Parts: sequence; structure tokens; C-alpha cells
Amino acid sequence: MRTHVQVAVIGGGVVGVSVLYHLTKAGWKDVLLIERAELTSGSTWHAAGGMHTVNGDPNVAKLQQYTIKLYDEIEKISGQSCGLHITGGLMLAGTPERLDWLKMTVARGRYLGMELELISVAETKKLYPLMDEAHFVGAILDPIEGHADPYGVTHAYAKSAQIGGAEIVRQTRVVDLKPRADGTWDVMTTQGNVHAEHLVNAGGLWAREVGRMVGLELPVLAMEHQYLITEDLPELKGQKEQLHIIDFEGEIYMRQERGGMLMGTYERAGVPWSPRTTPWDFGQDLLPNDLERIAPSLEVGFQHFPRIATAGIKKIVNGPFTFAPDGNPLVGPVPSLKNFWVACGVMAGFSQGGGVGLTLANWMTQGDPGADVWAMDIARYGGWATRAYTNAKVRENYSRRFRIRFPNEELEAGRPLKTTPIYEQLKAENAVFGEYCGLEHALWFAPKGKPAREDVTFHRSNAHASVAEECRAVRDAVGLIEIANYGKFEVTGAGAADWLSSIMANRVPAVGRIALTPMLNERGKLIGDFTMCRLADDRFFLIGTYAAERYYQRWFERRMPPTGVSMRPCAMEYLGLSIAGPQSRALLQSVVDVDLATASFPFMAFRSMDVGLFPALVGRVSFTGDLGYEIWVTAEYQRALYELLVEAGRKHGLRHFGGRALNAMRLEKSFGTWAREYRPIYGPYEAGLERFVDLRKPAFIGREAAAAEQARGGERRLVTLEIDARDADAIGDEPIWHAGRVVGWVTSGGYAHSVKKSIALCYVNKDVAASTSGFEVELIGERRAAVRLNAAAFDPQGLRMRA
Ligand SMILES: Cc1cc2nc3c(=O)[nH]c(=O)nc-3n(C[C@H](O)[C@H](O)[C@H](O)COP(=O)(O)OP(=O)(O)OC[C@H]3O[C@@H](n4cnc5c(N)ncnc54)[C@H](O)[C@@H]3O)c2cc1C
Repeated sequence: MRTHVQVAVIGGGVVGVSVLYHLTKAGWKDVLLIERAELTSGSTWHAAGGMHTVNGDPNVAKLQQYTIKLYDEIEKISGQSCGLHITGGLMLAGTPERLDWLKMTVARGRYLGMELELISVAETKKLYPLMDEAHFVGAILDPIEGHADPYGVTHAYAKSAQIGGAEIVRQTRVVDLKPRADGTWDVMTTQGNVHAEHLVNAGGLWAREVGRMVGLELPVLAMEHQYLITEDLPELKGQKEQLHIIDFEGEIYMRQERGGMLMGTYERAGVPWSPRTTPWDFGQDLLPNDLERIAPSLEVGFQHFPRIATAGIKKIVNGPFTFAPDGNPLVGPVPSLKNFWVACGVMAGFSQGGGVGLTLANWMTQGDPGADVWAMDIARYGGWATRAYTNAKVRENYSRRFRIRFPNEELEAGRPLKTTPIYEQLKAENAVFGEYCGLEHALWFAPKGKPAREDVTFHRSNAHASVAEECRAVRDAVGLIEIANYGKFEVTGAGAADWLSSIMANRVPAVGRIALTPMLNERGKLIGDFTMCRLADDRFFLIGTYAAERYYQRWFERRMPPTGVSMRPCAMEYLGLSIAGPQSRALLQSVVDVDLATASFPFMAFRSMDVGLFPALVGRVSFTGDLGYEIWVTAEYQRALYELLVEAGRKHGLRHFGGRALNAMRLEKSFGTWAREYRPIYGPYEAGLERFVDLRKPAFIGREAAAAEQARGGERRLVTLEIDARDADAIGDEPIWHAGRVVGWVTSGGYAHSVKKSIALCYVNKDVAASTSGFEVELIGERRAAVRLNAAAFDPQGLRMRA
């Protein structure tokens, strides 16, 4: 074993070997993989090997396509067969809602380059005679699904990596990890020590234990998972191999395994395995079967596929594999640790392993994952994702693996986790709460006396009328919304302004002013959008996306000068309330002794002032696009401030509004938001943010790439469409058609109540961006006509917010 390496990868499951292969492919040859036992000795060896391209996140879906297409490459390099069976796959719908979901999935596949096809029950039956068609209403056919041999895939990656220069040591356990002052690592193993510049935790079932060696509690939990293999079915003999299927109503998947069928289920009463610690002596072991637990799913399966009910069971497999709370992998550099990377929580190693390896290798060798991997980034979780939270969420996610997640559906497990001081007050106002990074926030307010519950649907829900009322209150009088759910940073020091200028695309504002600014990566892509507020020469308050707080923190920490600047995340310290609407000034004026007239406190002003009794930071800005104020106080003042504003607001017609109304109002203003319109696959000119990019500044991260984008004009444009919708609005990810071809996709959409229009923000190809008509948006399988708006639907000149 080498004693000094550039990278040590811990774990020889399908994920670790993929990382190793991609590192060598990227040119890093001095890499070592350390495996406790033999390759595949974790969850990999007993996997069913199924592969799918469909994923709820389009960017993860792309990486899944990449993974499946990679197998030819590693087979060729290594000479090792991956045991590929590209049978094609069917996703079967048994209810109209599921059929709607399938239509939306097919639609999304259009711009992802997927060849998904919606087919009738009769066509499905022809392709899949084992089914009883009485239980189904339609299906999707995906030609590149199938299954692979877990052993073959793992060894093909491993051999390809070795050919590329990597070393793999087996029967060697990493027992401890010690950081050196220079950020490198001493890796203690059962066979001696290795000094590594970078470490990758690909420990799979033991990822938590490897994390704990460096004081990290990773939000990962293994669940027991069972599948059975039937005796051979004589009717399959001599036939083309059966397609891979997913039956959502039965919550089962099935494929052919030699002469029999393999059927697995994600049962509702799933059971975690080793919830605290994974034993080191667990090897290529299986867990005891528990058919009772999966009996309800099997019963449905036997009705849907009667032939399976009469086939004998040859083998039952019960094995554990790991999940993160949201079911997506945990990948990337760990915030606050130097040169420590993770690639774990991968629940679909054979669909995702290649994409995970590519992403991590890009990140390590080039400093950037090369794709939009937000959905997999380890930084999306913080200390709040405790072991108990992870346990609750993973169980929920497992039990819902094949259930529909409606766009307006809030899941219940692990709640409430974080609440603000006015939680009970909002509850008393009949708030319907949503959860965002563990934080409860009001989505909308149900009428008094009615249950605070939203019907889940792809169409407009029972929230519609209440949200309309909330929007009306803001546009006509004044509304109040809690805005605790933002990420915040305090940046101070003599070097603060220069540092911010070097990492943000816009000019640093003058004291007492706010500047909106994108943050770009070196490739000139959007990795953040901030409200940058300046309190003093050397003191700034940054407001951004709450979910990305650790992502930003990691980015900032790695770019901090050694002295002169302090940066401190403070999201839950400053809890805000915002008031907006034409009466908001009068309301705020009644509780402050500062003159709020536009001449002395104009649009985009920011300063500290007392609001009632409370020291506050107040900005004249509102995401509603109306006259409005954001008032930030530290947590201990929030409740009393809320009471003050509610009381003082009575005579101004104050009404509460929630996140749904805020979203409707920002849509009618064509305001983009992080993770929707602004993501690392878009440039600032494409996103229409050019006025916030100051190329006159001599240097900032991404400047050259942004200048090049400006010169070339980028590839696409963010536009606003008004859709001729019926009772369903765009949600996000729907394809946009123009002149018979798909020219883009929706990033967010909804009903804009003040202008009574169904609005969608979308990226379309540059060549059609100037057209105003001829667009269609595919909503639940139906292409609805749409026109492009030349300006925001509401107050296009922005007069109200400047009033
Ligand atoms: C019953 C079952 C069916 C499945 N079906 C499918 C399917 O159809 N399709 C699909 O895509 N996925 C499926 N999976 C999931 C799939 O198995 C996982 O996604 C995949 O195995 C994850 O691989 P990994 O490399 O992250 O982890 P693991 O396979 O657990 O590998 C981790 C490796 O790290 C080693 N290791 C850990 N700690 C140390 C240490 N300290 N020192 C040295 N070595 C260490 C372990 O020995 C192990 O070999 C299934 C899983 C099960 C259990």
C-alpha cells in the first residue's frame, strides 16, 4: 500500500469505485481505494441491480442517464462484463392521479432528452402479458431501463480505475482519521498508515462510522429492503426478457431474473437497520426475512400479476442500504472540514453511482461539480438533521418511495422541528404550515373555523380563494408575513467591502443602502442571489436563501482572506417580519420615530432603527414588488414586535399573508428566486440579471465568464409567459413548445391573483425568446397556449415599490 497519496477513497462499493475511476479519468492517478473486506462488501453485493432514468429532480435524472450510458465505456476499458440487461421499463399507473403524474414525467423527459412514451393499457398488456390489465389505466415505456450485475459493475469500475493508475487495497479497514495542520489527513488502517491530501468517505453502510472518526454525524440511515425471486416460469422460456416494471399502486418493482421473476417492495411499514451504529463484522450477510411485513404489498402484487401468486418462491433477500432524509445522495466537500469529501447515502447505486463519481471527481479536480448538483449537495443539511430527524424522514421517504408527491404536499414526519417565537400566534390565525429545512413557516391562512389543511392536487387547491384574499390585502392595504426563512450573514471588518466586491457580481452598496447581487462561480454561473445591505463602512448584512446557508458558508470560508474580514451565518438569530402594501408606510411610521417619507428613507434604503421598543434593522424592499419593509430583529424581540405590528396594523387593514401569496405576487412581478430561476446551470444574462452585474469592476469571481456570456448572449433567456390555463397552473419543469418543438422549460409557475393570470417563468432558447406568441406549455399532458409578456404582469414600471 502506498504511504502517501493525493486521494484516499474509503469504501469499495459501487460508489467508491466509481469515484476512483472518475478521478483517474480526470487525470488524478495517485489515488488509493481502501476496502475493509472484498469489493461489494456493503449494500452493493445483494442489490437487485435495477436502473432507471426517472428522478424527481431533473438534474439528478441527467446524472442517472449518464450512469446507465457509462457501462459500455467501463466494460470496454476493463474487459469486465457489467451483466447489462437493457430490457426497457414500464411504469404502470393504476389511478387517474398517477396517470397525470406519468404525463408530467413524459413531458419533463422531453427537454431532458429522454425517450419516454405514454402508452395505453392495451399496448402495455402486449408488452407485459404477466399483468392483469383490469388494475391499470396506462403506463410509460422507457427504452433504457433494465438491470446490471452488481459484482460486474463494481469490478468493471475497479479494473478501469486500476488501468488508469489507481491502487486498490482489500482486507484493510480504516480505523481512524487525523487531520494535519495543513489540511491533509493521516489515515490509520489495520495495515498501517497512509498520508492523504484528500479523503473521500464512500463508506456506504458505514459512512456514519467513518464520519464519526472526524466528528461528523452524517444524516444517513439504512433501511431493510426485501425482494423475492420466484422459481422458473416455463412460459418465459425462449421469450424475450421481460421488461423492468414499477407498479406504483402495488409499491413494487419487478424484473426477470434468469428463468424466474424478481419482485421487490418498498413497504409502508419499513424498518431501519442498525439505527445507531453499523457493526464492523457485518459482511456479505443477509438479514432474516420478514414476509409478513411485505405481505400487504405482495397481496396487491399477486392480484396485479396473478402468475406470480402461483409461482413458487426460490429465494428471499433482505438486505440493508442507506438513505439520506430526502432520498437523494450526499455528495461534495464537507463544510468546515478541509479536504474531506463524501459520496454516501446513495440509495440507487446502479442508476446514480456513475453520476455521483463524475460529480465528485469534477469537484475535486476542477473545484466545481460541473453540473447542477444542488439536490445531492451535502451542504443542504446542517446540524438540525439529527439522528432522530433522519430516522423519521428516512422511514417516511422509504414508505413513500412509489407514492405521488403532489406539488403542494407537505410531509409530516419529523415536525415540528424548528419553530419561531410566533409559531403559536400564526397557528391561532389558522396558518397552514410548510416545512423548509426543518423550519415551520406559514404557507397560507385558512378561513377561521375551517380546518387548516390543504387538499393535495395537481390542480388549484382549496388554498386558492384564501391566497387570493391575502394578495388583495397586500395590493389594497397592507399584509404581514414572517420572513424568518432566509439565510443571513453578518460580514464585518476593514476588508469586508473589498472582499464582498471580489465575490459578488454587483457593486457594493453605499452605507445605508441595499444592492441586489448575483454570486457567480468561476464559470460565470449563478450560485447565489443576495440582498446585500450596508450598515456601516465595515458592516454588512447579507440575506439569501435559507436552504443554501451552509452552501454559501462553505463557499465564503474557502475564499476568506486571512485577516481583515469576519463572516458569521446568523439565519436563526435574526427573525424577520415584513409588511407590504400601500398602507405599509403609514403602519410602520406609526411605530417608529424616523421619517419614512421617500425623500429620507427611499426604496432600497437600509438602516438600524427602533421599531416600538425593539432594536431593528429595517430595509425598504419587498419581494411582493409593492411598497414594503423588511424588519429584522433578534429572536427575543420577534414576538413582541409581531404583536405591536398586528395591533398597530388593525386600523390600516392589516392581514396576514403566507408563502403561497408571496409566490403569486413575485410571479406577477417576474421576480426570480434561488433554486428555481437562479441555479448553477444559468448565467446572469440568461437570467435577466445583467443590471446587477457590474463589469466595470476590475475583478470578481466569474467576471471573465460573465463578460464572455454577455458578448455571446448565452444560450437561453428567462421569460414570463401567460398561459391560457384552466384549473391547473404550471408548477415547474414543464416543457415549453414553440412551432412544434420543445424550446425550453418552466422554472416556476402559478396563478397571479392581482392580475388574474396564470403565469410561468421559463427558460427558452435564445432564438425564440423575442417571439411573443406561438408558445405552448404542457400542463398535465395538455399543451396550453401561452404568450410571452414584455414586462411584469403587475406594475410593470415598478412604481409601487418606489412610491
Ligand atoms: C436488497 C437490496 C436491493 C437493492 N436494489 C437496488 C437496485 O435494484 N438498484 C439500485 O440502483 N440499487 C439497489 N440497491 C441499493 C444499492 O445496493 C446501493 O445504492 C449501493 O450499494 C450503495 O453503494 P455504496 O458504495 O455507497 O455502499 P456500500 O455497498 O455499502 O459500500 C461501502 C463499502 O465501504 C467499505 N467500508 C466501509 N467503511 C470502511 C472502512 N472504515 N474501511 C474500509 N472500508 C470500509 C465497506 O466494506 C463496503 O464495501 C439495493 C440494495 C439492497 C440492500
